[in-house]
Amino acid sequence: MVDKQTPPEVDRAAASRKAVAARRARASLKRDIATRVVSPQEVLRRADTDSLSPAGTLRITDFLTALPAIGESKRERILAELGISNVKRLAGLGVRQRRALDTWLEGRFPEPRPRGARSRLIVLAGPTAVGKGTVATHIQEHHPEILLSVSATTRTPRPSEVDGQHYFFVDDAGFDDLIARGELLEYATVHNAHRYGTPRAPIDKALAEGRTVLLEIDLQGARQVREAAPDATLVFLLPPSWDELVQRLVGRGTEDDEERARRLRTARVELASQHEFDYRVVNADVAEAAREVVELAQASSRAS
Ligand code: 5GP
Repeated sequence: MVDKQTPPEVDRAAASRKAVAARRARASLKRDIATRVVSPQEVLRRADTDSLSPAGTLRITDFLTALPAIGESKRERILAELGISNVKRLAGLGVRQRRALDTWLEGRFPEPRPRGARSRLIVLAGPTAVGKGTVATHIQEHHPEILLSVSATTRTPRPSEVDGQHYFFVDDAGFDDLIARGELLEYATVHNAHRYGTPRAPIDKALAEGRTVLLEIDLQGARQVREAAPDATLVFLLPPSWDELVQRLVGRGTEDDEERARRLRTARVELASQHEFDYRVVNADVAEAAREVVELAQASSRAS
């Protein structure tokens, strides 16, 4: 008996070859997205232009997980936030969904500015107690190839801190000297209390050697770096919520009540400036946040 539903053998073979080729093209596109050969915004534009192209037929789920630092659970959260069903393909997005996705991408992965690529200088800033130090230390432990800058400060060392390793502890006159000799890339008075600054020489040396350099500094410092080195990559570390930030500050127990209140006031102001940054990373889990920062750093250095 002849089955009318089944296409002849040759058609089926050709269709299956076509399907394999299309899958390969999509896999290659995903690699390009992951390695930043193509910007995600560009992929969306291609999907708009040609709905049958690899971009147009790419599933939204595959598209999102190809992006740096997006895992499955984060992907589902993003889709819910943007009101997009996880069975959609890029060419099948509605106008509003398309716009929402574009805006989200631009906030998270801004397209390179015309003036050129970003350097290997990464600034990690964020509100007090968000865990910048912990994330930076995690990166230092797992990525010795990345130089974590050691700042100079006028504050006194905590019991566990080692001079030259955690900070260079200097007195006021010593700090004035560093400024006068132009040895600091940036410096600021933090929490209205002590001065902190980033020594310039080790950074210049490491960058010249092609290394990635990470600065863990406050917001005023980040702004100065943007001025002094406009191609630096600025990353803002966010707490999962304000309540969580307060918990972390209380839990740390290193500050008295007055100091804690002062730092929380600073944190509120600092949170409001997150949109000045190139990228925002939520610190819900230290290892995950560290991984995201390293991926952003690697993406920046690949682009340069
Ligand atoms: P802590 O006293 O808790 O070690 O640090 C207090 C704050 O100073 C943190 O927010 C940290 O990011 C900031 N900080 C540390 N080093 C520097 C630096 O070199 N420059 C600036 N501007 N801020 C720094």
